[in-house]
Amino acid sequence: MKKSLIIIAVALFLASCGEKQPKETPTAIVKPKKTVVVPGFNADSAYQFVAKQTQFGPRVPETQAHAECAEWLTTTLGEYADTVIVQEFRTRLFDGRGIDGKNLVGVFNPEAKKRIVLCAHWDSRPFADHDPDAANSRTPIDGANDGASGVGVLLECARQFHLQALPDHLGVDIVLFDLEDYGPHQDEAEKYYDDRVNFWALGSQYWSKTPHVYGYKAYYGILLDMVGGSHPNFPKEYYSQGYAAWVSNKVWRRAADLGYRPYFSNELGTMISDDHIPMNQIAGIPTIDIIDLQPNSINECFPDVWHTVNDNLEHIDKATLGMVGDVLLHVVYEE
Ligand SMILES: [Zn+2]
Repeated sequence: MKKSLIIIAVALFLASCGEKQPKETPTAIVKPKKTVVVPGFNADSAYQFVAKQTQFGPRVPETQAHAECAEWLTTTLGEYADTVIVQEFRTRLFDGRGIDGKNLVGVFNPEAKKRIVLCAHWDSRPFADHDPDAANSRTPIDGANDGASGVGVLLECARQFHLQALPDHLGVDIVLFDLEDYGPHQDEAEKYYDDRVNFWALGSQYWSKTPHVYGYKAYYGILLDMVGGSHPNFPKEYYSQGYAAWVSNKVWRRAADLGYRPYFSNELGTMISDDHIPMNQIAGIPTIDIIDLQPNSINECFPDVWHTVNDNLEHIDKATLGMVGDVLLHVVYEE
C-alpha cells in the first residue's frame, strides 16, 4: 500500500515537472540513449571452468584439492583482472576447531568509484549429509552446482571483462568466498544449534567485517549459488527482496527482456541463508542471491542433488550457466 502511494506521488511529480517544460523548444536535442555492446557469454567456457574445479576433487578447506584449486583460481583470475587479492583468514568452525580459509578477489577498474560486487563460494561441502544413501553421509561432495557453477560463471565474466573492457566509470570486484558450506552435519544440527552464531558463510562474514579494501563500499552485489542445474527456478529470494528489492527487480526485469522469464519468475522465493546475508547485514551492501529453488524436490528446497554425492559435473547444464551469465553481462555493461 505504502509503496504504490509513493510510486503515484513520484509519477505525479514527474508528470508535473514535464508540464513545466517550455513548449517551444524545437532546437532541443534529444540525446539518443547510448547503445552498449554487451559481449556474448560463452557457456562452453563457463562449463570448462566448472569442470576444472571439480577435477581437483572436493574443495574442502585444509585439503590438497582445496589448496590446488585456490592456486588455480588465483592464477586464472590474475589473467583477467587488474589485481587479485588473496585474503587469508583464520576462523572457527561449529565444533570450535580453528580453520584457515582464503577469499579470492579479482579487481577490475580499481580507480572507478561506482563498483559492483559479483560473488560465489568456491569451497565445497565436507559432508553429503542429504544423500539418499546413508553410507555417503560423511563423504565430501564435488559441489559442481553448489559452489563451482557460480564460480564458473564468474570466471567467464572475468574473461569477458578482459576481452572487452568495462566502461571507465564502472568497477567490478569478483569475490570468491571460502568456507560457505562448512556448517554442522545434518545429524548434529541440533547439537550445535546456537542462534547467536552463523556457522555457515564464514568467508563472507570475514570479508564483510574486513573487506579487501579498507572502507570498501559497492553500489550493489549479486551472489550466485547453484546456477548450473537443468530446468532452474530462480524466484526472487526472500531476504534479497527484503534488503535489495531494487537490485532483484533490475536483474529480473533484464532477464525477462532477454526472454528468460520462465526461469526468472516474478515470484517471491523462500528465505535462504547464504553469503548475501553478512554482505547486507555487516558490509551494508545491498546484495541479492540468484539461487535455484526447487520446493518440489526431495529436500523440498534445492535441486535433488543438493548436498549429495550426485552434485557432480554430470548434472551441470550448460544452458543454465549461459543464461545466468548472459543476464549478468547485460546488467553489468549496461550499468
Ligand atoms: Zn551447500
